[in-house]
Amino acid sequence: MKFIKILKDIFAPKKCYSCWKEWHFLCLSCLQKCDNFDESCFFCKNPSMNFEIHEDCKKESNIDQIIVLTHYKNSVIKKLIKDAKFYKKKDILEDFSFYLSKLLLKYQKNIKKSDQLLIPVPMYFLRKWKRWYNQSEILSDNISKFTKILSRSDILVRKRNTIQQSKIWMKQRQNNLVWAFWVKNKFQDILRWKHIILVDDVISTGSTLIEIANLLKKYGVWKITVIVIASD
Ligand SMILES: [Zn+2]
Ligand SMILES: [Zn+2]
Repeated sequence: MKFIKILKDIFAPKKCYSCWKEWHFLCLSCLQKCDNFDESCFFCKNPSMNFEIHEDCKKESNIDQIIVLTHYKNSVIKKLIKDAKFYKKKDILEDFSFYLSKLLLKYQKNIKKSDQLLIPVPMYFLRKWKRWYNQSEILSDNISKFTKILSRSDILVRKRNTIQQSKIWMKQRQNNLVWAFWVKNKFQDILRWKHIILVDDVISTGSTLIEIANLLKKYGVWKITVIVIASD
């Protein structure tokens, strides 16, 4: 596999979607021009150190921190994420994983890696089978390679194919997600006292992630961080 990758790099090198320079799908200087997120609270958008969620903004959510790299409305970012998701350009996710890893390490300096666990947002098995892969799982596995934090995609399961979130009314969203996820019995003990880092590509209202966080908290999780490429 490594050999094929080297050949691919030589004959079809990655090119930046924005400036067309080689070796990256999004080079660092173009990423920095993308109007990235300052440290803020995801729910009220006001400044907040280390992307921590203010106590008053938590309401019914158990999420302690939501780290967002950039904006989905940026046309380059949107195209990259769409290509990675729907057009099988998995390598794009590797580039994003590198940037997400750097962010994660910056805002998680004082936590022991052995107390942390990366968990990708799962996909219903039929959808994953149709698409060949789950983009969140690839992000999580690559972040694990860069940060040495363990990634586990086998703990959390998506029970049924929830109707795509964008297609339903806000009011119905919460109902649609009830019972959509579960934690495998044999892994429930692993979660106790852990700092869970949930990995996804895009966050909109955050309802899916809130649902997962509320489920994980039942198993004694200590802290929940979310890390995503973009927010719309
Ligand atoms: Zn560039
Ligand atoms: Zn807030």
